Amino acid sequence: MNIVIAVDGPSGSGKSTVSRMVARQLAISYVDTGAMYRAAAWWAQHQGIDLHNSDAVTQAVRDMPLVMPVDPNNQTIVVADHDVTSALRTSEISTVVSLVATNLDVREELVRRQQQIIADQRAAGQGVIAEGRDITTVVAPDADVRVLLTASEAERIRRRTLEIRGRDDEQAMAETAAEVVGRDEKDSTVLDFMNAGEGVHLIDSSAMTILEVVSAIVELARKASHE
Ligand code: C5P
Repeated sequence: MNIVIAVDGPSGSGKSTVSRMVARQLAISYVDTGAMYRAAAWWAQHQGIDLHNSDAVTQAVRDMPLVMPVDPNNQTIVVADHDVTSALRTSEISTVVSLVATNLDVREELVRRQQQIIADQRAAGQGVIAEGRDITTVVAPDADVRVLLTASEAERIRRRTLEIRGRDDEQAMAETAAEVVGRDEKDSTVLDFMNAGEGVHLIDSSAMTILEVVSAIVELARKASHE
């Protein structure tokens, strides 16, 4: 299916899991743009750059030798011969990534790379689903299907807590809440990923299973490809 699907949403909305499953089901490529911002933070830190030094960070990101996977079944991420796949998911990176993502010059560089990846897939006759915070609005506003995936704050915190700590008791939830809410607040200073614009399908997944959300997006994709 030669289709472009754009999915945005806040932290814990389930967009990565859902998008990967949609990619598998439709046999299309998958682009995790959040991983690119995480890789940018990792790369700048790896070079000993203070993340508050926005000019130095921008320069480092422009030179970043990042190889982004598009296979939903193999999401190994390599920067300058380092396999950073697990390092990018750590809370050390989660707590600093917004510093890099709110740098507008960094965004310009990563948006350019994301658009290039999508264009390469299209040129190869391959469909693609890209997920992040600004895919429906900035990276691929012309996508065939655009989705804003949300969930209540309590549900998003619960999902992230389970994912990070493997349990969802009150103490674990309280520890994760600050990270989830804090990161979304910081990201919201440069992005609007809480309100669906015109033509963007809003899916509130608070009371839905993962499979129900996947089916809803697959259905939208099938409809769009018949239009
Ligand atoms: O989706 P994930 O939680 O991995 O994203 C990590 C961070 O990357 C977000 O908190 C945000 O700062 C940044 N991001 C972004 N724009 C995107 C995707 C992610 O600014 N399209």
